[in-house]
Order: sequence, then C-alpha cells, then structure tokens
Amino acid sequence: MEKYVVLKKKDFNDFVAKLALIQTVVAPVKKGQKSFAFQEVTTGQEISLHYIPTILPPKKYFMPQQETIMKFNKSKFEWTPVLEYKELTIFGVHTCDLAGIQCLNMVFTNKPKDINYIVRKDKITIIGFECNDYCDEFASCASMDNHIPNGGYDLFFTELKDSFIVHVNTQLGEKIVEEISLFTKANDEHLKELENLRAAKSKIFKNELNVKHSDLKGVFEQSFNSKVWKDLGAKCVACGNCTNVCPTCYCFDIKDEMNLDFNTGSRVRVWDSCQNEDFAKVAGGESFREERANRQKHRYMRKFNYPVDKFSRYFCTGCGRCTRTCMAQIKLKETVNALAEEKK
Ligand code: SF4
Ligand code: SF4
Repeated sequence: MEKYVVLKKKDFNDFVAKLALIQTVVAPVKKGQKSFAFQEVTTGQEISLHYIPTILPPKKYFMPQQETIMKFNKSKFEWTPVLEYKELTIFGVHTCDLAGIQCLNMVFTNKPKDINYIVRKDKITIIGFECNDYCDEFASCASMDNHIPNGGYDLFFTELKDSFIVHVNTQLGEKIVEEISLFTKANDEHLKELENLRAAKSKIFKNELNVKHSDLKGVFEQSFNSKVWKDLGAKCVACGNCTNVCPTCYCFDIKDEMNLDFNTGSRVRVWDSCQNEDFAKVAGGESFREERANRQKHRYMRKFNYPVDKFSRYFCTGCGRCTRTCMAQIKLKETVNALAEEKK
C-alpha cells in the first residue's frame, strides 16, 4: 500500500536544517529576476519552492560538466581510474526533471554500463516537488506526460493548504522520515485534498502541442525531408546552449590533459554538444552533419524518434529549457507543431 506522511508548513525550515545535518542538501535557489539554480543550502529560507526550471537541470550532479576519470604516468606506464562522488540530497526536483534523471539512468545503466555514473547515482537521494501550476508558456510537460509524478524519487512533496503531503517511495525515503521526526501519518482529509489538487491540475495542465503523445514519433519519422529543418538551420547560431541545459542530453568528449612535466596527467570527461561544428567530424576532416539544419534535425530526432526505438520513451521531458535559453529564439513547441502541421 502507498505510504503518505505529512509535514506541517511551519516545520519546513526545521526539516531542511535537520536534513542538512545528515548530508549535503542542494535545492532550487533564486538567481536574479527569473532564474533559479540548484545549489547547496542549509536552511529552508534559502529555497525557492515556487520556481521555473533551473538554468541547469539536476543532471549536473549525476554527470558533472567536467569529471576526471583517470590519472596517468607515462614513463611508469601507470593508469589509475578515478571515481569522483559525493553523498547528496537533491531537494525540490520537479516532475519533468525526475523524468530527465530516469532517461539518464536508462542510458548509463545500459551496456556498456557507466560505473562512474552508477556509483554517483547511488549516493544521491532525490526528493521531488510537485508543480501545482504552470512554469511558463515554454513548458510542454503535460504533452510529454511529465506534469504528474511517475516515480524516480525517494520522497515526493506536494504542497497542500497548511502542509506538505509526502509520498514515501523507497526505504531511503522511509529512513529520512524516521530520522527527522517531524512527519505524521497522512489522514483521509489530506488524501482527499491531494486528490482534489490533481483533479484541478488536469484542467490547468492541457496538451501544449498540437499532436498527441502517442503520435509524436510518427510525426518525426516522416519529417526527415521537412523544410522546417532548413528554417531552423538558418536561424541557429550553433552555440550549444540548448543541449547543455537539456536534462536528457548526455553526449560527452574525452580529453587528456598533460601536466607541465609532460609525463603525468589526467583524462577528463567533459560535456559535448551535437550542435558544435566539430561534433560529427571524423579523421580526414569529413563531417557527417556539416549543416546546422542537419544538426538541429539530429537534436530533435534524439528526443522524439530514436530513443523510442531504443528505450521505449521520449527523451524530451517538456521542461522548456531549450526554448528559454535559445538566443536565436528557436521554440520547441513551434517546431513540433510546424512538423505536425506539415504531416496533415
Ligand atoms: S528538448 Fe528542450 S524541452 Fe525537451 S527536455 Fe530537452 S531542454 Fe527540455
Ligand atoms: S540554443 Fe538555439 S541557437 Fe544555440 S545551438 Fe541551440 S537551437 Fe541553435
């Protein structure tokens, strides 16, 4: 049976302070006017409970922008693997970002397994937080079925009038509830309030795309020769921002960095982007995706077409980050709708 507990709003700050004594807590914090970022907190007052998707998704804790994976000594012919991780609780993960983490889990636990990612993931506790309202016009979480929780967390908070109702999803979540003795058992009134809230949400969160979830793949399968890609290619400045902020983009490059002794050094893994000109270059200087239009097409296909074949799910969570960040004002919802319109 599902287990729900309740935390009174007046106890929230106490909860965060106690959690931060157990291990490092990161949570959404306001940065400037309309921007938010996950960063370390020690008190509840620092946290923005009502936030639009953070500049970078929580993937930065699972797959750091730069990570040392090996140290080497050339003359001794020594190679030492490095595994960097930290025990961490991420508080306040929205449902779209929970879906993003689920996508990354599928990729990195698939063969060949990525040990660094898997160990790091196992050290991270995830506490989700429900959006009771829309973030902004760029979100398409309802079309992607990610506006309500679909697992991928240890605890999940939903804000009610005077309290938070918390779904306990794992043993780790249960341990936190027991250790921080501020929670009480949810009663029928709390459960009814949650049910009413979800019913209200189903009226607020409506399909944002002009195409049904189940038809999206078909739209993309038939769009290889669409003129929409040419239009995007003409606008895109190939900055790579869209892929950097995307919770499901995971491409990386491997670089060897020599120390000044020209003998020892480190092998590092860094984020890469399919929007970079060099990304698809091979020996001899040939590039498989020289045109920006092709690179844009590839990015979208990696969200709405190819992953469905490999992982049986879309790799777009509907978070809207790519649209928010694009300096060429390329809008994901407009792109998908234009492709759907062409198919009619
Ligand atoms: S493609 Fe855009 S909207 Fe979809 S998950 Fe990536 S950043 Fe979010
Ligand atoms: S953020 Fe916009 S301009 Fe930059 S690579 Fe992505 S689509 Fe192109």
